[in-house]
This record gives sequence, structure tokens and C-alpha cells, in this order.
Amino acid sequence: KSFQQLGLDAQLLQAITDMGFETPSEVQEKAIPILLEKETDIVALAQTGTGKTAAFGFPLIQKIDPNSKKTQGLILSPTRELCLQITNELKNYSKYYKGLNTVAIYGGASITDQASQIRKGAQIIVATPGRMQDMVNRKLVDISHIDYCILDEADEMLNMGFFEDITAILSHTPEEKNTWLFSATMPKEVAIIAKKFMHTPVEITV
Ligand code: AMP
Repeated sequence: KSFQQLGLDAQLLQAITDMGFETPSEVQEKAIPILLEKETDIVALAQTGTGKTAAFGFPLIQKIDPNSKKTQGLILSPTRELCLQITNELKNYSKYYKGLNTVAIYGGASITDQASQIRKGAQIIVATPGRMQDMVNRKLVDISHIDYCILDEADEMLNMGFFEDITAILSHTPEEKNTWLFSATMPKEVAIIAKKFMHTPVEITV
């Protein structure tokens, strides 16, 4: 299959061409049509390096309303490095969507600066769980109207002890949102999160 056949917008297809991506990876081919066509939860078992950032990033960007300043998508990721990497990728993918802003939230950097970036309008937030929970607690960020929540490398986040933070963050998000969970493995803690916070997710494995 080609990227055109997956149902992506012209703005995304142009960015994909610019990046030199020729064909969709397996996880992209499986996840993108489902996420574009249906409002559904999904559990995707995929390792890093399989192209999973684009598998959730392309549909997310296409579904966000760039004309609304409110935060619509939240991506939780285990480390600052990953958080910055995902943010850079999303900025690249969304370069032809005027007004679409992605902001990175992570520990070890100025919370004041991050809060001011959020105040300017961030439709997509990519965050590490500890700093995100801190900012939610201090009411520096409003995630009460998000439509999409992505848990990236869920097994890693739980290994690193973020269960409490993730649970607390999710409790501030609306019930009706869609949750897209990506994980390399499915240990018990990931299954618990899926059972507690997700509704009959579609499952894909690559
Ligand atoms: P990820 O698994 O999301 O960390 O992606 C791994 C790397 O593959 C990143 O550098 C992406 O930019 C790149 N990539 C993702 N999808 C494709 C694709 N369909 N064709 C070529 N490169 C890709």
C-alpha cells in the first residue's frame, strides 16, 4: 500500500514526501486507516524503530482542529529524550497545518517557560508523566477537553514507576476521549491500565 491509500490529507502527504518516506511501515499500514476512520481506542504492540510515532502522529494531526487553541491531544512518553524526539517529529509532520502547535513538557527545565508556551495555545502536548502531573496539579495546563490520549512506550513508563502519575493524569481527562496505547510488551501493569481506562480497544500487533 501507499500513503495515499491510507486516507491521509494532502498536507500530510506533502510532508511525508519532503521527509523522503516512500512506503508505510507495517504498524502505519495497520493503525492509520483504523484511527482515521473510527473513533476508537487501540492497543498496538510495536517496538521502537517500527515507525510508531507516525502511526499515531499522522492520524492525530489530521484529526486536530488547528483553528481551536484548546489542547486536543496528549501524548505521554517515558523520557525527556523521547518527548523531545516525538515533538520534533510531530512538528515536522504538521508543518503544512497553519496554526497547529505542539509543545513538549518534561522535567529538568523551566516550568514557567513551559507554562507560557502552553498559554499561547498548544493543540498537542507531548509530556513526561512526572512534570505533566505537576503542571496539572498546579493548574498550569487544562486537559479536561482532550479528544485523544496516546500512551507511548506504556511498558517503559510503568517500568519507570509512573503508574500513579499516569492514573492521576488520566483522571483529569474526559471519559469520552479515545486512548491509543503503544507498547513493545504487554506486562500485567499495562493490561491493568488498558482495562481500567480503555473501552473495547482494537488490538494490532506488528
Ligand atoms: P519510530 O519507530 O517512530 O521511532 O521511527 C523510527 C524512524 O523511522 C524515525 O526516524 C522515522 O522518521 C522513520 N520512519 C518512520 N516511518 C517511516 C517510513 N514509512 N519510511 C521511512 N522512514 C520512516
